[in-house]
Amino acid sequence: MPGPIPFTYNRTELEYGCAVTNTKEISSGDIMAPASNPSYLIIGAGVFGVSTAYHLIRKYPNASITLIDRDAYDAESRVAASWDWNKVVRADYDDKVYCKLALEAQDTFKSDPLWQPHFHQTGVYWTCRSDYAQNVINNHKELGRNDDIIALPVAEARKLYGGIFDNADYTGVKEVLINRASGWAAAGDSLRAVTKRCIELGVKYVTAEVASLEFDGRGSCTGVKTKSGQALSATHTIIAAGAFTPTLLEWSAAKSRNPGLRAGERILAAGITTGMAQLRKEQYEKYKDMPVGFQGYTPDEGKPFIGSLPPTKDGEMKWWGSKIFTNTREVLPGQFISSPPPTHDYNQWKVPGPLKQDIVEARNLWYGPESATWEMTKHRICWDAFTTTSDFIISPHSASKGLFIATCGSFHGYKFFPVLGKYVTQMLEGELEPELVEKWAWDRQRPDSSANVEYPNSEMKHLLHPTAKL
Ligand SMILES: Cc1cc2nc3c(=O)[nH]c(=O)nc-3n(C[C@H](O)[C@H](O)[C@H](O)COP(=O)(O)OP(=O)(O)OC[C@H]3O[C@@H](n4cnc5c(N)ncnc54)[C@H](O)[C@@H]3O)c2cc1C
Repeated sequence: MPGPIPFTYNRTELEYGCAVTNTKEISSGDIMAPASNPSYLIIGAGVFGVSTAYHLIRKYPNASITLIDRDAYDAESRVAASWDWNKVVRADYDDKVYCKLALEAQDTFKSDPLWQPHFHQTGVYWTCRSDYAQNVINNHKELGRNDDIIALPVAEARKLYGGIFDNADYTGVKEVLINRASGWAAAGDSLRAVTKRCIELGVKYVTAEVASLEFDGRGSCTGVKTKSGQALSATHTIIAAGAFTPTLLEWSAAKSRNPGLRAGERILAAGITTGMAQLRKEQYEKYKDMPVGFQGYTPDEGKPFIGSLPPTKDGEMKWWGSKIFTNTREVLPGQFISSPPPTHDYNQWKVPGPLKQDIVEARNLWYGPESATWEMTKHRICWDAFTTTSDFIISPHSASKGLFIATCGSFHGYKFFPVLGKYVTQMLEGELEPELVEKWAWDRQRPDSSANVEYPNSEMKHLLHPTAKL
């Protein structure tokens, strides 16, 4: 097996099939660190990977830490689920662990100059068809938080915010949760800013597509090989590749003949559609200070919660749809798993008509006939990694020493951006609290997904069939 190739940061993309950010010369020795001197290779520069790099470089300023991603961190378009116009940053969780973690992350969003410019404290407005509101409020009380969080009867809630939600669908709604402490963040902007800070602090950023993991004779992970044949090595390889994680593990399992590497039932790659409308100036004035809107459903209603995000500074209002779909395809001869489409950009901008219709229906849940004339300008399919419980996986991989997993945002991972890396670092160092070790383990008992309304609910090709009901 050839060793890692020496390379310089200022050579061209053609020479290595990859672009490298930075101008410093490095040799194979920089990357192939001896085991006594830990080095970290992080596959994927979404929120899990970047947060990990950020916490590691701050704790170990002289460590060798490399982020590798198929897209440049400042590319015009990226496939990362974390790269987006805006994402909800809320601490309105009925699960106490994520409630506490989200409060911790939100505190950083509000106070740390690195994150603060990207956060907008607009509040959230959440129509609840279950006891969700009361469960969230109880969690906040138990955690000793005096956030401005209340549950209101529908008649009272719909008068708020100048009545902008008066035409929303309130069918079956028990009460409306209002939390003025929550809001949203400019996701792509914050991801770029934190990645840039990581590079300034000494993290290396390599733009290349990882084709497989590399192993030594004893099956320990030693790094990766890129599509163009470049080898990068480290004592710790951390997969933070989002929706692509199961495919990468499948390829690596086949190459190394170690079937234990496969994700199997643990991780499911799935997509969801987002769409945006361009508001006119007077509409922007009306909606610019609106809260994030959520329509919350129960498992019996068979829908995930559906959101309407406040307009960006360019006056674009965003929704996501109700269909969370798998894309089962042959990733190796005879091996079928759900995986994003096999193009560099996951075909994320090629959104078929039925999925655009899913966004129209999401929009109609909020603004009534007025919104029918709004100009829908952008649609994107965004891919994420899901677990049946929506828990992350932040864990050593049990089938290979030196290999770790940190991903599975399950459609709610962005808001934890400031703190994810703190917990990944604790995991790497065996210091994670036992409750989190169990919750985020690679190997754990996983209930089926029947109680999880956010779990993928269809197969993409079935939704595109002319007779499909959306
Ligand atoms: C439409 C949508 C809306 C969402 N809204 C919210 C929200 O409002 N609030 C919230 O908290 N969360 C939200 N989420 C969830 C959140 O965005 C994700 O859970 C989170 O961003 C996942 O982060 P990640 O780092 O695991 O993956 P990603 O952000 O997808 O990053 C993975 C990275 O790995 C790279 N990669 C993959 N394979 C390879 C390879 N072979 N070689 C090199 N690089 C590779 C990719 O290029 C990518 O940059 C939403 C998700 C979606 C899809």
